[in-house]
Formats: sequence, structure tokens, C-alpha cells
Amino acid sequence: MGSPDCRNSGSRRRCAPLWLFDLDNTLHNATHAIFPAINRNMHAYIAQVLGDGVTPADAATVNRIRQEYYRRYGVTMLGMVRHHGVNAAEFLQEAHRFDDLPGMIRAERGLARLLRRLPGEKILLTNAPRQYAQQVLRHLGLQRHFSAQFAVEAMRVHGQLQPKPSRRFLRKLVASHGIRAADCILVEDSMENLRAAKREGLRTVWVTGYLASYHRKKSAACVDVTVKSVSQLARRYRRPSSNQN
Ligand SMILES: [Mg+2]
Repeated sequence: MGSPDCRNSGSRRRCAPLWLFDLDNTLHNATHAIFPAINRNMHAYIAQVLGDGVTPADAATVNRIRQEYYRRYGVTMLGMVRHHGVNAAEFLQEAHRFDDLPGMIRAERGLARLLRRLPGEKILLTNAPRQYAQQVLRHLGLQRHFSAQFAVEAMRVHGQLQPKPSRRFLRKLVASHGIRAADCILVEDSMENLRAAKREGLRTVWVTGYLASYHRKKSAACVDVTVKSVSQLARRYRRPSSNQN
């Protein structure tokens, strides 16, 4: 992992930030078709696992388990692995099975140009599985703009999966770049993930444009900047001298 771009400006040494970009509902609109499909897939898979081998579990049971694991672990998958012996890779593959993924992706134009113009290194940090993340990035033409991609399988500390909102993984990521947490900016739609990042001293950008209305709460203290879409980052962060929020 590299260090952030730095340049001397008079007597002060300025560092371009290290950007951590979420994927779903940050770089593209997953609420449109992808999340509903993942919901259906996940529900069917969990119902089968919790069932008696013949009859799948009922919807109320599945929903209760999903909500509990999501709340406790940040991703439902971890709860299914820890408490039901589910294979993580199989769970992720089943949840992200789509007939026509490219046809389901909705995103604004100009994202590649935006990422190119933003000063600093960019890293993808997503709780989605690697194969899916790569397909979406490739479709959007954004792959080469990220110096590293951390999908959920790669978010580990001492071998243990630590997806967002894990603060331990954020600490590890920041430390491995030899950078101050305050020089990192997490761009996200999830308030829980932004809160964890802020507690670690990172700067935060909340992307609200793709959120379902019931997630669109008021901004919170953990949010430094709120944008409707990532394209609005261009105006705020174009030059190193305007990096402050
Ligand atoms: Mg997201």
C-alpha cells in the first residue's frame, strides 16, 4: 500500500486525502433493482437454511434473524456463518445471483472523470463480495481509478472477517498507509459506517441520493459533508488547497 500524494506548499506539506469509497448506493443506485434482488435471494437462502430440510422457514422467522444479524454484525452473512455453519462464499454467491446484472445497474455519468480529477489515492471499501464489486466497477468503467479494492472477503483482522462498520479494520487500513486518520475520507451512504469512521478520526461524506426514503434521516454529528451524489465532490475537493471541509 502506498502513502498519500504530498506536495510542498510554502512551508507546509500538504497531503491529498486517501479516499475510501463505498460501492452500493454510493457509486451507483442499488435501491433501483439490485438490492431488491439481493433481498429476495437472501431471504430464500436463509429460509432454506433455517427450515427443517423439507419446508423453508416462514417469512417472520427469516426477517427476525436477518435484522438481528445485520444489527449485530453489520452484514447478515457473518451471523449465518457463526450461528448456522453457513459457508461464507456460498452465501455471498447465492445472495448476488442475478439474471442480468449490467441491466440492473443505474449510475450517473461522468464518474470516471470525477475520480480522475479528485486529488489523492482512491480505495474501494465495500461489504459486497469481490466478484460482484468487480463486475459493477467494470460496467461503470471505474476499475483503474482505484489503487486497491477491499470487498467483504478481504476485510479481515488477524484472519477474522471485520466488515464495515468494523473500527478495527479501519484502523488497520489507515495504519498500513502510514497516514493520519484525519487525512482519510470515507464516502458512504450508511450512517452506521460513517459513525464508526468518525470515531476513528476519519473525515466523512454522506451520500444521500440513492437512499430509500426511510433511511434519509437528518444528518448527524458524524457527518462532515452531505452530498446528494458523488459528482458534487468535484466542486468541494478539486484542488489540494481546498481539501478542508
Ligand atoms: Mg452502501
